[in-house]
Amino acid sequence: MPFGQIVKAISGFYYVRTDEGKVIQCRARGVFKFEKKKLTPLVGDLVEIEQTGLDEGVVTSVQPRSSELIRPPIANVDQAIVVGSLKRPRFQPMPLDRFLVHGEREGLEMVIVLTKKDLVKNEQEIEKIRSVYEPAGYPVIETSIKTGEGIDELKRHLKGKVSVFAGQSGVGKSSLLNELLPGQKLETGKVSDKIGRGRHTTRQVELLILPEGGQVADTPGFSQLHFKGMEPVELGDCFPEIRRRAPECRFRGCLHINEPDCAVKEALRQGEMDEKRYQHYTQFLTEIKEALERR
Ligand code: GDP
Ligand code: ZN
Repeated sequence: MPFGQIVKAISGFYYVRTDEGKVIQCRARGVFKFEKKKLTPLVGDLVEIEQTGLDEGVVTSVQPRSSELIRPPIANVDQAIVVGSLKRPRFQPMPLDRFLVHGEREGLEMVIVLTKKDLVKNEQEIEKIRSVYEPAGYPVIETSIKTGEGIDELKRHLKGKVSVFAGQSGVGKSSLLNELLPGQKLETGKVSDKIGRGRHTTRQVELLILPEGGQVADTPGFSQLHFKGMEPVELGDCFPEIRRRAPECRFRGCLHINEPDCAVKEALRQGEMDEKRYQHYTQFLTEIKEALERR
């Protein structure tokens, strides 16, 4: 039986790209289970199919997933490309950090892309952003769709991986996708509108193949940026620079606020951790605690 990957799902049909590169329209047969939980096939799933016609078949089994995003619903994503614009709209670190936390929580690799470089006159502004995120552990790529800068570097990061773009509306996600996928024109502005304003849509996420290798979701990831279901102690793990230092805190489960002998506070005092990032950490922690109280 051929193996393949679900690249698109529309009202009960799963479009499976087989290892030979053919797309087969499939129904699902029976009930799939994983670790006793009932499972609905998702875009991104690696599946086994039985062909029933030239371009038709049924999905007969689903492989265990390495990750599972809810928005958009997609399995086996490796990486999030977190996009922030340098200008128009101006760079906003707080939303960027929110996206990073959500990606970390899903266990994804992350790359930061700073768009609209052509609008920046003072390069120091960019260096300042780099000096925060690179030491934290994230690659930072500067791009411009006007000059083409950074696009090849981005392609290298996408190669061989399943990636999802994330970032606020207007930062340039669809523009980047259009650069990466010539001939598969996505309407700029549309991608984020679809979810950003809570509009319902029947169109589902689709995995697109990059000419240089790798796959990208055509719908941005983590549109809902609240920390639902998150415990306060989990937050530190979503900041790599806190995660690295936490084992040196005196207390296990240290929240790095007022505890004595806290390695994170010490790093702050030594100027080894960025204060803004720490501020965002405390802000998110407050939000998580408030959400817990409401539960
Ligand atoms: P999205 O909402 O994140 O998908 O953002 P869009 O891709 O729709 O882009 C929003 C606006 O920013 C559009 O008017 C784009 O033309 C513009 N834009 C995107 N990338 C760049 C860039 O690199 N330079 C400049 N100057 N404008 C850009
Ligand atoms: Zn601590």
